[in-house]
Amino acid sequence: MPSRWNDDEARAACAQFAAAGELVALRVYTSRLLGGDDTLVLHGGGNTSVKTTRRDLLGRDVEVLCVKGSGWDLGDIEPPGLPAVRLDVLRELRALDQLRDEDMVNAVRGALLDATAPNPSVEALLHAFLPHAFVDHTHANAILALTDQPDPERHVRAALGDDVLVLPWIMPGFPLAKAVADAYDARPDCVGIVLARHGLFTFGDDARQSYERTIELVDRAQRYIDRQLGGAPAMLSAELGPSPLDERERALELALPVLRGACAEAKHGAPGGWQRVVTSVRTDDELAAFGLHERARELCAQNPITPDHVIRTKGHYLYLAREDWRSPDRTRRLVAEFELGYRRYWEQSARRVSPDLMLSPKPVVAVLAGVGLAALHPTSKGARIAADIAAHTLRVKAQAHALGDYVALSDDELAEMEYWPLEMRKLGKAALPELAGQVALVTGAAGAIGCGIAEVLLERGACCVLTDVDAERLRVVEQRLGAGARVHAAVADVTDEAQVEAVFAAAARAFGGVDVVVPNAGVAHVSAIERMDKQAFARVFDVNTTSTMVVLQQAARVFRAQQTGGCVVLQASKNVFAPGANFSAYSASKAAALQLARIAALEFAEMGVRVNSVNADAVFGDDDVPSQLWQLVGPDRMQARGMDAAQLRDYYRERSLLKQSVTPRHVGEAVAWFAAQRTPTTGAVLPVDGGLPEAFPR
Ligand SMILES: [Zn+2]
Repeated sequence: MPSRWNDDEARAACAQFAAAGELVALRVYTSRLLGGDDTLVLHGGGNTSVKTTRRDLLGRDVEVLCVKGSGWDLGDIEPPGLPAVRLDVLRELRALDQLRDEDMVNAVRGALLDATAPNPSVEALLHAFLPHAFVDHTHANAILALTDQPDPERHVRAALGDDVLVLPWIMPGFPLAKAVADAYDARPDCVGIVLARHGLFTFGDDARQSYERTIELVDRAQRYIDRQLGGAPAMLSAELGPSPLDERERALELALPVLRGACAEAKHGAPGGWQRVVTSVRTDDELAAFGLHERARELCAQNPITPDHVIRTKGHYLYLAREDWRSPDRTRRLVAEFELGYRRYWEQSARRVSPDLMLSPKPVVAVLAGVGLAALHPTSKGARIAADIAAHTLRVKAQAHALGDYVALSDDELAEMEYWPLEMRKLGKAALPELAGQVALVTGAAGAIGCGIAEVLLERGACCVLTDVDAERLRVVEQRLGAGARVHAAVADVTDEAQVEAVFAAAARAFGGVDVVVPNAGVAHVSAIERMDKQAFARVFDVNTTSTMVVLQQAARVFRAQQTGGCVVLQASKNVFAPGANFSAYSASKAAALQLARIAALEFAEMGVRVNSVNADAVFGDDDVPSQLWQLVGPDRMQARGMDAAQLRDYYRERSLLKQSVTPRHVGEAVAWFAAQRTPTTGAVLPVDGGLPEAFPR
C-alpha cells in the first residue's frame, strides 16, 4: 500500500484552507487521504485530530484539539468538521478514575470554542491524552484480519514487529482513552497502537508522519497476509463457482421481493402498518462465491470485524443457501429464526445495558449463496452503507479465517457497543420520511403528470422506478428529479407484456420489489365516432386499458411474494364521468381502466392491497416536461374555441369551481396521500380537477 502523500496537493490544501491555519489544513488533507481508501475506513468510521492553538476573544493563544466531529466523513471532511476543544480541560480529565459517558460528553462539549460546533468524536479524550500533534485512527481491513483471531497479538506481532503496542478489546470512551495513554507512557518509542478487534492508532509530529505510519503498518500487515496465504485469493473459494451473471440477476428478481417482505417490520402508523425496507445488492464474483463455502454460514453468524459496524449491519448476517433463497417458505422461515436469534441475544446480552429498548430484530444483511449479498434498510442510503460494510466484512472474515480462525467480539461486548447511547447517537434522531422504505413504480413517467407524481413521492422518501416508452423524455425527467440512487429509469413499452415484466424485474433488482404502483401511461386520439379509425381506437385501448391490466397482473405477483400489502393508484380521467365529443377512444378506455381498478380493489383486498384512482383534468405541465396529451389535443381545442395556448389554460382554470389551475404536483399529492394509507380506503376515485360538477364521481 503506497503512501498517497503528494507535496503539491498538500500545498494546495494549505492554500484552499488557509483561513483555518496550516496545521488544520494539512489535517484535512491527510484525513481525506485516509477517508478516500475504503480498505482503511468506511462511511464515517475512524477519526483524526491535530493539536494547535487558537486566539480567544481576549487575544490569548489557547491550546486546542481539533478532532473529527460527529456527522462528518473523513473522505470529504472540511475544517468545520474538526471542531476545536480546549486541550487543558481535556487533559485534566485523565486524573479521574472513572468518568460517566454523559459527563464525558458534557465536559467535552463544554470545552468547545464554538458552542454551535458538532459533537467531537467519542474518542476525543484518547486523542487529547496522546502527546503528538497528529493522531490518526482507522479500522483498516488488514489490521482487523490480524487481530480478529483467538490470540489477537500473535499475528500482529509477527507482521508489524515490536514498533507497535497491542491492547486487548476495551470499551471506547474514557476507559479506552486512559488505557491507551497509560500504555503509551510505558512505551513512548512506539509508532502505533493496535486495538484488538477494533483498529489502529498512529501518531506523529507532523501530518505526513502520522499518516505514513498508518500506511506503513497497514502495508506490513497486508504483506504478511499475502505471505501467509501464499498468494491465494483473498476470498474464500468454494469448489462450486458462482452462478453466471445473468443467473444471479434472475435469482435477485426471484428472491428479493420475498426477502424484502419478510424483513419489513410491523409498525403502527407506517403505510399499511409496515415499515418497509429497500435493498442494495453486491454481486461481484468473490461475494457470489463466498456464500458457497462450507464455512460461510458460520462466518455470517459471527460478530462484526470492528464494533462500529454493528449499528449499520447488526451483529450477524442472514445466510441463505441456494435451496433457501429459491424457496419463499424457507426464506421466510429463516428470517423468522434470525429474529428469534436476535431476541435471544437481546435477552442474554443486551437487556442489561438497554432494559427498555430492543432494536429491530430483522436482519440487515443477507448472504445469498452463489449470488452475492443484499442489504435491507428503510433508506436507500442506509442500505448502501450496510452493503459496503458487509462486502468488506466478508473479505476480512475470509482472510482471518484463512490465516487462522476468525474470532470477533463476544455478544456481551458487542451489545455494549450496539446499545451504547454515544454510538446510537451517530444514527441521528431524525424521524424517517413518511414513505421511507417504499418503492413506487410509475408508468408514463416521462409525461407531466408522471413527473409530478415521482417528484412528490421522492420528496416523501420513496424510491421510484420510472418507466416510459420515450427514452429521450425519460432522460429529461430523470435529470430534473436529480434524486440519484433513489431513482431507477427503465425504458419500456407497456403494451408489450414481456417489457412490463422486465420493468418489475428491474424494480426488484434495484430496490427489492414494489409497493406503490401507478398505472399512468396513456394516449389519446381525437376523432368523431363516425370517422373513427378502428386501429387507432384499438391502439388507445391497448395503452390505456390492456396495459393497465398487465401492470396489475405483474403488481399482484410481487405483492403476493412480499406479503406486506401495497397500493395501486390508477390515473383515470375526469373524462370517465364527464366525457367529451370527438374523444371517445380516450374516454371509453379510461372508463374501462377505472372499472378494472375497481375490480382489482375487490380481488386484491385479500392481499391487503388498496386500489384507488385519481381523476385529473387540464394538467398542462411546463415547457421542460409538457403534457403529451395536451400537446396532442390542445391545438384541436384551441381551434374549436378560437384561443391561443395561454387563453386555453385560463379557460380551463376559470371553468372550475375553485378557479385554480391543476398542476402535476397536485396529482402527485393525491397519489402520495393514497400511498401513505392513512385511511382504510379502496375502490375510491379522487378528483383533482379544480371542481367540475359534471365530473363529480358517481
Ligand atoms: Zn474506532
